[in-house]
Amino acid sequence: MSLAVEGATLDGRPVVLRAEEGLIAEVGEDVAVEDSDELVDGTGTALVPGLVNAHTHAAMTLFRGYGDDLPLMEWLQTKIWPTEAKLDADDVYWGTRLACVEMIRGGTVRFWDMYWQPAATARAVADAGLRATIGAPLIDTGDMGRSGLQKYALESLDELDGIDRVDRALAPHAIYTVSEDSLRWIAERSAELDVPIQIHLSETEAEVNDCLRDHGKRPAAYLDRTGALGPRTLLAHSVWLDDDELDLIAERGASVVTNPVANLKLAVGRVFDYRAAKRRGIGVALGTDGAGSNNSLDVLQDVKYLSLLQKHEARDAATLPAPEAWEVATGRRAPLLGVSGRIEAGEPADFLLVRTDSPQLALGDLIANLVYAASGSVVDTTVVAGRVLMRGGVVEGADEVLERAVEHAARLGIVDRV
Ligand SMILES: [Zn+2]
Repeated sequence: MSLAVEGATLDGRPVVLRAEEGLIAEVGEDVAVEDSDELVDGTGTALVPGLVNAHTHAAMTLFRGYGDDLPLMEWLQTKIWPTEAKLDADDVYWGTRLACVEMIRGGTVRFWDMYWQPAATARAVADAGLRATIGAPLIDTGDMGRSGLQKYALESLDELDGIDRVDRALAPHAIYTVSEDSLRWIAERSAELDVPIQIHLSETEAEVNDCLRDHGKRPAAYLDRTGALGPRTLLAHSVWLDDDELDLIAERGASVVTNPVANLKLAVGRVFDYRAAKRRGIGVALGTDGAGSNNSLDVLQDVKYLSLLQKHEARDAATLPAPEAWEVATGRRAPLLGVSGRIEAGEPADFLLVRTDSPQLALGDLIANLVYAASGSVVDTTVVAGRVLMRGGVVEGADEVLERAVEHAARLGIVDRV
């Protein structure tokens, strides 16, 4: 399978890009199209790397617009958890397919997911053509217990093994929903199997206070005590960290995924300190979090929040400039994500064509416009592993996905209509 993109620009120069077997084969001004190539007309567009949504719960698109404007714990306890108890694999499959349509339209090529029925998520990712790192949420404070957690974790890892474009992760939900013994066990499995850990950490002040009360340490130090803070660990949120915790995270080589829009919407009261993390060399990625708490999966929208919040906090307009924010959004500031973000021969053929003839991108610096002016609507074409997932703004099969997702939301009692 080979693909050729003609008529687009790369760094302001007109180029032809050819992809073969999922990789970029050639890119340059003099590249010749071959007869067998599937052609993509890139006239009026620029080639840019795909976006990475490094923290989400994809199937929660089913919960969009359900229980908004509630405090975090009330939202979880009265809306989300009772409905999640009824979720089956097909609900998760179609919710994730809906998320994939939205992400493809917005230019996301890879996401990190933590959600129930991970095998259904993986099937949806495989069918949609995206890439994902998927982990089953591990919780042992409820009915599951410690042995249940271990069984579920190992079964999930087995189910996710060997699926195209899917990587596996262990996903302990948070330090307040997983016991210390289970965190230790998860850390050991992560090291043994060389799979990453993704966990929510230090999202709210209450989490910090509870951790100090229960364990005598702040969240990052407590997580470190279990062995689960290491170079394979991706910490979602990390809003309420102090300097010592940031030092520890840097020392252990863990990475952070910040979710500025979800943090604002759930009013967590503080902003992740990007500058402090950067000073220490901590890898930083960007996530939307789930559609229940964002409520969109539009990374191009969220990168603007990321940059503006940091400028505001620093009282310095030079903080987190557009090129750096763009690197965060494309996964290049967090080596743990394993994304090069380079458009050159030998790299995975994961890229976007963005409309440089759109009002948002027609004038001025492209990267600044992508960060400060654009939303996902400027994405014309999304290519992952050399396969065109959207062309001219159209994702094939999107109507059916939408219809089926609404049916499943109705089955769960989230919406009335079918
Ligand atoms: Zn989350």
